[in-house]
Amino acid sequence: MKILVPVKRVVDFNVKIRVRPDGTGIDTANVKMSMNPFDEIAVEEAIRLKEKGVASEIVAVSLGVAACAETIRTALAMGADRGILVETDADLQPLAVAKLLRAIVQRENPRLVIMGKQAIDDDMNATGQMLAALLGWPQGTFASKLEIAGEVLNVTREIDGGLETIALTLPAIVTADLRLNEPRYASLPNIMKARKKPIETLKPDALGVDPAPRLAVLTVVEPAKRQAGAKVADVAELVSKLRSEAKVI
Ligand code: AMP
Repeated sequence: MKILVPVKRVVDFNVKIRVRPDGTGIDTANVKMSMNPFDEIAVEEAIRLKEKGVASEIVAVSLGVAACAETIRTALAMGADRGILVETDADLQPLAVAKLLRAIVQRENPRLVIMGKQAIDDDMNATGQMLAALLGWPQGTFASKLEIAGEVLNVTREIDGGLETIALTLPAIVTADLRLNEPRYASLPNIMKARKKPIETLKPDALGVDPAPRLAVLTVVEPAKRQAGAKVADVAELVSKLRSEAKVI
């Protein structure tokens, strides 16, 4: 079974985000970029399915600027077999990504697509759902456990009230939640081996998709700074402040 894993290049989760002074977006100049953490979990899950003998090939796909090839290399170093880079400088939004991924799915014919539940840069949580709708495939979102039995995939999902397990008929889309697994670090020998694994580069035109944005970002602002706290002398002062000063936000 072939598994496709879309991996997005995002600002590293440890980096403190800086908003551009003109409010048009965030500053990515000289900022450390990494694979979206939920996509690392997706890659890990695909590798575990290969180790169990369920998957035969893992293809990592990234869409965006040429440097997304580095993100694909990270997936290859973890254990993916080959990569596809859809190279564009366009500002890619979920619908464009989903349409490009649909075109890749139609070329590659995977039985399963495992992707992140959301990208930590735009927090859209939309691409997996859009891809499932475009393909007409079943989807298991927010997955915390996968079990494959023949043509059926049981997905345990993290929902508000607890855990829900659904059965999907393959081919299907899964989006990975935090507790699905703990991704491995790539070992040095595997990083070296990954250099020899192939990455095919395509342009959106070749896939027949116009990646132009449909949404306009009006403004981006920093979160409001928290005001300093104050100490109270005793419970009586606390109660009095709660009565007179506390506001419902
Ligand atoms: P989002 O809907 O933007 O929160 O992204 C959800 C998931 O879609 C991510 O975790 C990735 O697996 C995938 N994805 C979104 N954008 C891209 C991209 N430019 N390249 C590869 N995968 C992407």
